[in-house]
Amino acid sequence: MQPWPALLEFDKNHVWHPYSAIPPKSPPIAIVKTQGSILTTADNQQLVDGMSSWWATLHGYNHPAILKAMHAQLDTMPHIMFGGLTHQPAIELSQRLVELTPEPLNQVFLVDSGSVAMEVAIKMAMQYWKALNQPNKHKLMTVRNGYHGDTFATMAICDPVNGMHGLFEQQLSQHIFAPAPTQGFELDDNQHTDIQAVEALLKEHHSSIAAFTIEPIVQGAGGMRFYRPDYLKQLRQLCDQYNVLLIIDEIATGFGRTGKLFASEWAGISGDIMTLGKTLTGGHISLAATLTTQKISQAISNPLTPSIPNILAHGPTFMANPLACQAAIANIDLLLSTHWQADIQRIEKQLAEQLKPLADLDLVKEVRVLGAIGVVELTRDDLGQPIQDECVANNIWIRPFGKLVYTMPAYNIPDTQLKQLTTGIVKAVESISNPIDN
Ligand SMILES: *Cc1c(COP(=O)(O)O)cnc(C)c1O
Repeated sequence: MQPWPALLEFDKNHVWHPYSAIPPKSPPIAIVKTQGSILTTADNQQLVDGMSSWWATLHGYNHPAILKAMHAQLDTMPHIMFGGLTHQPAIELSQRLVELTPEPLNQVFLVDSGSVAMEVAIKMAMQYWKALNQPNKHKLMTVRNGYHGDTFATMAICDPVNGMHGLFEQQLSQHIFAPAPTQGFELDDNQHTDIQAVEALLKEHHSSIAAFTIEPIVQGAGGMRFYRPDYLKQLRQLCDQYNVLLIIDEIATGFGRTGKLFASEWAGISGDIMTLGKTLTGGHISLAATLTTQKISQAISNPLTPSIPNILAHGPTFMANPLACQAAIANIDLLLSTHWQADIQRIEKQLAEQLKPLADLDLVKEVRVLGAIGVVELTRDDLGQPIQDECVANNIWIRPFGKLVYTMPAYNIPDTQLKQLTTGIVKAVESISNPIDN
């Protein structure tokens, strides 16, 4: 291996990182090893991981049960095309997904990333209405502050500001946006106003709307906002009433993060289409899935209009990669064999107790915690980098964006490391806050 200074010099001048420039405004930290909830840097610093590699890691890095399954698959068949061929890892993963996801989701499409899973979801919805000879239903509806991916179809349903719609104005499809739900997670039966805006828009536009897309209970990258299960329940009813499909994006929330196996379970509902990603392999390798109902797969496979192809028009090269499917099977079996609900409650309690005092600072707008997700929303959006630097100085890995300092640790993070994480966040926010307060 070349010496680190040379590698980092090349990285700086040639390698793009997410949403960054070349060279980047601040250099990335080189990581040489991961284990459990610990990242080891090239300088041999040990950081407690608060990000789970963007929601993905559930049982920490390099979990032996997942590695074992992957090693075995690696030796027999790391990859094979899925066109005309099939294999046990894809079938057994699909069995688990059909069994675990809410009824009536039982048709599975396996892809390589979350954005692509959403693209497939959108295609399913569009093809469904075309197959039923209702081609006018080709628009999407969603809420503001959402995030569904970085490809063109998904960007068009991301929050118009966060999703940089201005930059791609001419290329993006125009869809219908309702205001984001505002009422937080806690149930308050007296306030049902959020959903009224959705109903008004559906009433007006339903004849052109194919599907409504939403992240259940937690809006992730578009604002780290939580909303009431009741909202989702009413949305499900409205979609039925106005003959609009509901696409539930569980890419961030799937597999336990909010305290339910799937966040849509808080509302006791199911989408007509559901996407899974990030958490599917417990953060070990890229894989995502789009599930739908037999009603939709049958309509697509038997179109009323003869001129329409009777197939779902998608098929990526690496779909259903056996190595990734095997990692996902091991991840799911591991999750179901642990007391994950108790772990989520333990983390939720600790995050709430230790982060809530930050709400007293002028710099902090709100602290909110749901399941194993802790969010400190600041009043300013220009402090992410200094707070990240402070966190690293405190030996923890946190990557704020905009006004949001947030953490979603692995479910099995030891108490001592969780304490280190929350203490590190509190210290970092306080130290940035003090010079401002004084
Ligand atoms: C991350 C994310 C996506 C996109 O997944 P990628 O694997 O990054 O393409 C879509 N929807 C939600 C809710 C996400 O959090």
